[in-house]
Amino acid sequence: MTANPLPEGVIEALLGVVGRKGWVDDAGAMEPHLIEARGFWRGTCAAVVRPASTEETARVIEICAAAGVPVTPQGGNTGLQGGAVPDGGIVLSMGRMNRIRAVDPLNHTMTVEAGCVLAAIQDAAAEAGCLFPLSLAAEGSCQIGGNLSTNAGGVQVLRYGNARDLVLGLEVVLPDGRVWERLRGLRKDNTGYDLKHLFIGAEGTLGVITAAVLKLYPKQPGRESAMAAVGDADQALGLFSRMCDACGDALTAFELIPRLGMEFAVKHMTGVVDPFADAHPYYTLIELTGPEGGTGLKEALETILAQALDDGIADDAVIAASEAQRDELWRVREVLSDCQKFEGGSIKHDVSVPVSRVGEFVRRAGKAVEAALPGVRILAFGHVGDGNIHYNLSQPVGADTDAFVARWDEFNHMVHDLVAEMDGSFSAEHGIGTLKRDELVRYKSSVEVGLMRTLKRTLDPKNIMNPGKVL
Ligand SMILES: Cc1cc2nc3c(=O)[nH]c(=O)nc-3n(C[C@H](O)[C@H](O)[C@H](O)COP(=O)(O)OP(=O)(O)OC[C@H]3O[C@@H](n4cnc5c(N)ncnc54)[C@H](O)[C@@H]3O)c2cc1C
Repeated sequence: MTANPLPEGVIEALLGVVGRKGWVDDAGAMEPHLIEARGFWRGTCAAVVRPASTEETARVIEICAAAGVPVTPQGGNTGLQGGAVPDGGIVLSMGRMNRIRAVDPLNHTMTVEAGCVLAAIQDAAAEAGCLFPLSLAAEGSCQIGGNLSTNAGGVQVLRYGNARDLVLGLEVVLPDGRVWERLRGLRKDNTGYDLKHLFIGAEGTLGVITAAVLKLYPKQPGRESAMAAVGDADQALGLFSRMCDACGDALTAFELIPRLGMEFAVKHMTGVVDPFADAHPYYTLIELTGPEGGTGLKEALETILAQALDDGIADDAVIAASEAQRDELWRVREVLSDCQKFEGGSIKHDVSVPVSRVGEFVRRAGKAVEAALPGVRILAFGHVGDGNIHYNLSQPVGADTDAFVARWDEFNHMVHDLVAEMDGSFSAEHGIGTLKRDELVRYKSSVEVGLMRTLKRTLDPKNIMNPGKVL
């Protein structure tokens, strides 16, 4: 399918702004910008436009607004909900805006452009003797503009919060081409509506994030990781509670991995080792971090885990004795999304419930999906310390893949209805995109959806910014 051509004069106008360096219309070169990595969606666009500055971005948007051309902002295109897949118009690819504009170690802030790759930001923070804690498996290719636009979570939310919590200031090109500049590194600024939060998590529907002031933290060179085997999600929560009480802020990650995940990971992915001799129903991956030397972290881990083993809360435990062993433990967790594809069709959920109800959720959801499809294989893993479970289902062994995946909506509603009943969220960290647009209307109140539509119409009356996404 080819995209509708751009209105007369628009190509020349856009080329006049970004030049040949910022223009891609060759079919082969556009291809990576049209597809979602797992092949779930494929879009169309007339060209990929790559601005090199905020000024260029503003002029591109101004031209598109005047001509009614849809704009799909794109970062690393690693999003999982189809939000960066274009539906006509242009893709606005932010990768050339990749400058770190300033680092202020004393203020613990860093001003970056939207196209900076997350890993490069982490490295620059480290070079300045600081920590930028946002961390997720796609960090080598996702960009901070995409992270903020999806309010990304990742593995350290427990201690540092979501992407939203890591921003002090923003620069945004509005849907009419005006630039809203609020690149302040202030911890205190009580001056009315906090507008930055409108654009964080908006998935490119309200404007283009071009730069941000990010919060940095003191480096945490002390790091201890462990994996503890537990009988069920309730035991995992019991252990989590003990870790929180004993370690407070030092508890940086607390992840849940089911046996099925361990089996899939060992079977299909290189470099994955089951650290235990016996099979266990669940595993928790625990990380403590602290300042220089990490004094006391290892002792704390050893004490709590020994006590948990004595009390029957944990069945077995290993503490990483080296960085290599730590990487091995984390490798199991990191490959969980990827390894599922080798087991046939899968139906995915990214849900959250109050942390205290994770065990109840896992039990009740398990009963419901198993009753609906005996033999369905449940891969419930994720950020249990945030109450965020990636509740993924793999087809029964030998089942027909198409027939299984055709039941996507049925299982989604089953799981999401339960989550709604438990005061949870049907999208904990991956956003809405196109995948969960209908769920948004189903699960949010009419007042909330109405407010969102009012905001969208007010800021983007011509509906050029990522139309068809979120709402
Ligand atoms: C292996 C893997 C692991 C992942 N793990 C996690 C995880 O743990 N936690 C998590 O939250 N997510 C995770 N994700 C999802 C994804 O990486 C994040 O959502 C990431 O933040 C998206 O960044 P991106 O640059 O790739 O954005 P894209 O995919 O390019 O875009 C995502 C959305 O943001 C919009 N957008 C992009 N840049 C801008 C901008 N500058 N201004 C306005 N709108 C913009 C797009 O239009 C789109 O709607 C994972 C993905 C993969 C592939």
